[in-house]
Amino acid sequence: MAKITFRLSLLGLIGSFSLMLGAAGIAAEPPRCPDRARIVMQVLGSGGPELASGRAGSSYLVWVDGRARVLVDSGSGSLLRFVESGAREADLRLLALTHLHTDHAGDIVALAKRSFFNGRSRALPVSGPTGSGAFPAVDIFLERLLGREGAFGYLAGALDGTGGLLELEPIVVPAKINAESSAIQVFDSGGLSVQAVAVRHGSVPALGYRVNIADKVIVFSGDQDGGEAGFWELANDADLLVIHLAIPEQAGPAAKRLHATPSRWAEGIRQANVNRVVVSHLMKRSERNLEDSLDILADGFDGTIDVAEDLGCFPL
Ligand SMILES: [Zn+2]
Repeated sequence: MAKITFRLSLLGLIGSFSLMLGAAGIAAEPPRCPDRARIVMQVLGSGGPELASGRAGSSYLVWVDGRARVLVDSGSGSLLRFVESGAREADLRLLALTHLHTDHAGDIVALAKRSFFNGRSRALPVSGPTGSGAFPAVDIFLERLLGREGAFGYLAGALDGTGGLLELEPIVVPAKINAESSAIQVFDSGGLSVQAVAVRHGSVPALGYRVNIADKVIVFSGDQDGGEAGFWELANDADLLVIHLAIPEQAGPAAKRLHATPSRWAEGIRQANVNRVVVSHLMKRSERNLEDSLDILADGFDGTIDVAEDLGCFPL
């Protein structure tokens, strides 16, 4: 039976701490991940598009030696958590987008604008899926937002490196599911490598990611139905796997086409020999049934299961 841990609500702590100090006019220090750990996965946004229960949209940081190196997703509301975490844009080496729903990519424009006030000399690669239907490929997505003719054309420096803005360099990753779907390397430098693979999220082009640092492996599922063998190959032997539990076991067929049920996650986790699971992307419907879902996940799994909270830290 797996060990299940509910983490202390950091948000609750921050709120009460700020109130106590507010009267004296002293700003509370943001919470920091344990800085002695070499590698830490930090949750910035543990929720979905509802922005309920104190949960920002999807976003995660991978810290290496005290520097935030990989940002996975930049969902709505999560940029505030990025700032609260103490991370710096200048330290980032990759922004890895799982897909282009607002709860995963809604804060990119705000990130580009914020960079003006913080300085950055090198460009930031932004990996994301190819396009389909209503969803543009990641390069077109950025062009429509930040190009000279885009919605935020005044921030066009974010695509050409002018105007003191963080330059975003798109990396388009094939997201079409087929028999040959296999992982693609999107980053490899300085002992850090990142691979992406197509996952099935209804008709939405979507990716899962594997981050390798030294001998540690962190895998991010993104939103998906959990049915792609390619993803479970990517997740094999992960030290830490972040799964998105957006629906309960008894969800209807439309929701199941987009998201994996707890039993689907449980099956994959057992087969992939994962060591530790962080349950994230919680929505009202998944929170209402969380205990039942955790029981399903824990059945036959020997590792540790944690429930994500915004700003929660997971040292490896
Ligand atoms: Zn989502």
